[in-house]
Amino acid sequence: MDFDSHFKSQLDALKAEGNYRVFADLERKRGAFPQAARHKDGRVEEVTVWCSNDYLTMGHHPDVVQAMVDTVQACGTGAGGTRNIGGNSVHHLELERELADLHGKERALLFTSGYISNWAALSTLGARIPNAVILSDEGNHASMIEGIRHSRADKALWRHNDWRDLDRKLKAVGDRPKIVAFESVYSMDGDVAPIREIVEVCEAHGALSYIDEVHAVGMYGPRGGGVTEERGLAHRIDLIEGTLGKAFGVVGGYITGSNNLCDYIRSFSSGFIFTTALPPAIAAAATASIRHLKGSSVERAAQKANVAKVRRLLDRAGIPHMANDSHIIPVMIGDPVKCRMISDILMADWGIYVQPINYPTVPKGTERLRITPGPNHSDADIDKLVTALTALWTRCAISHAVA
Ligand SMILES: *Cc1c(COP(=O)(O)O)cnc(C)c1O
Repeated sequence: MDFDSHFKSQLDALKAEGNYRVFADLERKRGAFPQAARHKDGRVEEVTVWCSNDYLTMGHHPDVVQAMVDTVQACGTGAGGTRNIGGNSVHHLELERELADLHGKERALLFTSGYISNWAALSTLGARIPNAVILSDEGNHASMIEGIRHSRADKALWRHNDWRDLDRKLKAVGDRPKIVAFESVYSMDGDVAPIREIVEVCEAHGALSYIDEVHAVGMYGPRGGGVTEERGLAHRIDLIEGTLGKAFGVVGGYITGSNNLCDYIRSFSSGFIFTTALPPAIAAAATASIRHLKGSSVERAAQKANVAKVRRLLDRAGIPHMANDSHIIPVMIGDPVKCRMISDILMADWGIYVQPINYPTVPKGTERLRITPGPNHSDADIDKLVTALTALWTRCAISHAVA
């Protein structure tokens, strides 16, 4: 086989349909974010970032940066091994205690990313619980889908956020161990699950409830414990999964739950056992970030105010965006080529960085810009964004019909 021409023809097909991904070469400047330097063709330009998942700019927070620097100075860079072989440290254990406390659970378990935590936990539960069935919301993230697939357990999809459909599907499963996997804030539409109803259905059927709070930890609840904290439901959920890479501004993933549940995953999960632990400095920085957000709502409040401001100005300009209860503002384009073109023009002419969201991240025909205002976007940044979008709407002949 001519491998190289195979690779090239597949890439050409992706380009022809507008779904080829191009990454911006950015350099975030501490203290200046959301302004960042963009490198292109040997030149450097200043851009404003509007699509970061470091939602609260905690990746630049003095306490978080200092914790990482101090711990690197004290402990060096890498963990030196898996948790089993030489990689465990006081910093990992302290972070796990902090996370367990954040969600009001007995215990937490760290992974190298949120993706791996979902993949490892779901694949272990599905594979090791005899005769288990996993009931997965049809909108679940790729990391959950892959974990479920890898488990080889039977799986049933239920309609997105539809707890009545979940109830029917659970009933149909009958007397087998059931695991219900869903998210709180769905990252592409920004919609929030009816968690209370889902939990009640799980309880009625004796199912194990598994929630991904990746886009909600640090962001919702008085201490940043997510939507489950905000709605007083954390204690009724068996497993809460989260990331340290989004609102907490570092990297890593975790699960929290009972002692036995976490010990079970720790003991049987290949995705936990056979990979080098997070660097201690990462763990220390994440602990500092979580602690800060447990005690401070300043960042959350400023961020919420900016989200409201952007929505208001978009409405005034007649630019359609999806209504939801979260901090994520999807501006619908509905065409992959236009979506990429608008993103390119925003960057080239306006110094505004919003990555286009195309298939397979979202279904074809629902291509969009996903805007995530942060606490440090200024009024001038917001005005410029809306002015630019208004100009582009006319130039690219995009519908003003509300999505
Ligand atoms: C980003 C994301 C993950 C993965 O988290 P990482 O820490 O980035 O690996 C998991 N679930 C959802 C819903 C996500 O959006």
